Amino acid sequence: MAKITYKTPIVEMQGDEMTRLLWDEIKKRLIEPFVELNVDFYDLGLINREKTADRVTVEAAEAIKKYRVGVKCATITPNAQRVEEYSLSKMWLSPNGTIRAILDGTVFRKPVVIDGIKPFVSGWSAPITVARHAYGDVYRNAELRVDGPAEAFITVRYPDGRTEEKKIADLKGAGVVQGMHNLDASITSFCRSCFNYALGEKQDLWFAAKDTISKIYDHRFKDIFAEIFEKEYADKFEAAGITYTYTLIDDAVARVMKCGGGITLALKNYDGDVLSDMIASGFGSLAMMTSVLVSPDGNFEYEAAHGTVTRHYYKYLKGEKTSTNPVATIFAWTGALKKRGELDKNPALAAFADKLEKATKLTIERGAMTKDLIPLFDKSGVVKRECESMEFLDEIRRTLDEIIDD
Ligand code: NAP
Ligand code: MG
Repeated sequence: MAKITYKTPIVEMQGDEMTRLLWDEIKKRLIEPFVELNVDFYDLGLINREKTADRVTVEAAEAIKKYRVGVKCATITPNAQRVEEYSLSKMWLSPNGTIRAILDGTVFRKPVVIDGIKPFVSGWSAPITVARHAYGDVYRNAELRVDGPAEAFITVRYPDGRTEEKKIADLKGAGVVQGMHNLDASITSFCRSCFNYALGEKQDLWFAAKDTISKIYDHRFKDIFAEIFEKEYADKFEAAGITYTYTLIDDAVARVMKCGGGITLALKNYDGDVLSDMIASGFGSLAMMTSVLVSPDGNFEYEAAHGTVTRHYYKYLKGEKTSTNPVATIFAWTGALKKRGELDKNPALAAFADKLEKATKLTIERGAMTKDLIPLFDKSGVVKRECESMEFLDEIRRTLDEIIDD
């Protein structure tokens, strides 16, 4: 069979440790036998970030803006221990943070759902995506401790000297105060990313906040979503057969537990932080959680939600056997291949990505899996079998060979 080709490169970003090893093997065993990869390659491994004074991260992000689709391996975010371990000249910033700042995006997290891995929440038969706004609110706040009775105010001072002031409280004794902010521009780009993602996934979109209590702050989010929806997206949503709903955050939390899944839940920064971890564990395992950064002008960067799995890597270096789950990393590749196929109108490429996803799920559903899934898997008539990482990739390859011509 001739290999599938495509015109526009995918931006490939190699990473660190256990996921770096899996990355090359996933390409070699599961993708390159079928697809003539055309990539713009950046090595974001910590050694090369040090060598290039982290320019490589910025160049990779610029390349995503040019080619619109990227796929990234997990990378080390250096801390003091890593500075020593890798003899770094500087504690380089988080690559994800750098890329996000350049692309100006929203992060969408979605679990891979497998027949036999029962979500802890039994009704969740289809994946729930959490779209988290990653700017402002309590993450960029100013706080003060107040040590006795006091009046507290918020003041806004404009460049022309105008000021606006509002009393927060007459504190009757010691306590705490906090001020936070967000920007229309950031909320707007978050909102467009969510609408674009929902259209891409053909999933209903919910946005939840607390405008009944926060009548100006949260209300601003609600209004921006409503305005942009009416102006730019209502027709597109109707054509795609999906809906947009605003709901109060407490109502959303109650309803999400009872829904069958298959929705995108857009949340403010803090709500997204809390609920994405809840939803990941509700579905089973971090190793099955995919992640994509979508920018408002339609650039897509795919990755796994987990890190470089350092603990397994140190075991591997000692020559011990490892059973690291490659599923989220495989799905980062299939996400990028599928999006490339869609943007370039290359159905063969998108169809291959679908088959690789199907083969990965089917392999687990037939009982072969990595160690982390063993306690979660239960399917009547299927005997489960623990595989090492590479052995598991070969199992997926066997399934893929079997279904590739279907
Ligand atoms: P981690 O790599 O996600 O791993 C934490 C633990 O979760 C692992 O020790 C393992 O548990 C389990 N796990 C995660 N992924 C797994 C997989 N694919 N298969 C099987 N088990 C898996 O997080 P970390 O250990 O806190 O961070 C390691 C490094 O990754 C750090 O340097 C951090 O900066 C970086 N990081 C990068 C990203 C990113 O690039 N997006 C995200 C998070 C962290 P057991 O050990 O119990 O098996
Ligand atoms: Mg968190």
